[in-house]
Amino acid sequence: MSAEWNELQTQLPVWLEASRQRAASGKVAAYIPELANAPADALGMTICDGHQQALTAGDCGLQFTLQSISKVFTLLLALMDQGEEGVFAKVGMEPTGDNFNSMLKLELVDPGIPFNPLINAGAIAVSSLIHGATPAEKINRIAAFFQELAGDAALKINEAVYLSETKTAHRNRSLAYFLKANGVLEDVDVEEVLEVYFKHCSIEVNCMHLARMALVLAFDGADPVSGRQLVPRRYVQIAKTFMITCGMYNESGAFAIRAGLPAKSGVSGGILALVPGKYGIGVIGPALNSKGNSTAGVHLLETVSNAFDWSLF
Ligand code: GLN
Repeated sequence: MSAEWNELQTQLPVWLEASRQRAASGKVAAYIPELANAPADALGMTICDGHQQALTAGDCGLQFTLQSISKVFTLLLALMDQGEEGVFAKVGMEPTGDNFNSMLKLELVDPGIPFNPLINAGAIAVSSLIHGATPAEKINRIAAFFQELAGDAALKINEAVYLSETKTAHRNRSLAYFLKANGVLEDVDVEEVLEVYFKHCSIEVNCMHLARMALVLAFDGADPVSGRQLVPRRYVQIAKTFMITCGMYNESGAFAIRAGLPAKSGVSGGILALVPGKYGIGVIGPALNSKGNSTAGVHLLETVSNAFDWSLF
């Protein structure tokens, strides 16, 4: 066992309790009503290494939905289905500096394609690119892919969260219809695309699942547990670059400076992060800051990254 792993083992619970205090300044997302039931002061972290060791601290037993974290993995599947050309005909490569659900820039550029695949508009466009004759076929392929990455064939959709989102998603609906008008969603039914999008956001996980999914990215698409190459290295490179530039929304620059790790957050309070070649990390902390990122989770990741000088830069 490395000295770093030993220190992580002793320090992680201490750092976690210090970061937990930050939850008090955040708020659990309530625009999807079902998410408001999450415990505001929960905080958990799981770290997996490439030798099948895992460390857990805090509330790692908590189940939560992937929300925007799923966008990284639907992007990978879309790249595997359509190639780079197919995907980047419909979605751009640039950060927006705007909120994750903003529609502002869709009308400012020509053609009106979403700026990147990690904002809602971009992820909705990506959902339309997943192969499958029906929404059910697409979602089954997405679920099977996520199960393989997470090493758990039991991953499933949280129906209550899905229904809660689909009933209240007026803003995402308007984004999607706007994309249809701009010719981004071609030959597809908008409601069917939204069904796929809301369902992949509603897949339920815990910190260990996030850490395992992150580990595959940390090892360039090869799962160190099964030894199988699950994603081509080039596509993982694309995903990790988006995670650095857009993964924490309009807090991505600050997070890159403070933690320096590829990461992706979701409004459930989950964060998936990785240390290339070393670790996959899963975090849950439902209280969010004003940018929609877990306030305690961000603090904990920054603390751990700084302690071990993990920044990529
Ligand atoms: N399903 C959520 C939405 O579309 C995902 C957003 C997020 O996690 N930031 O609003």
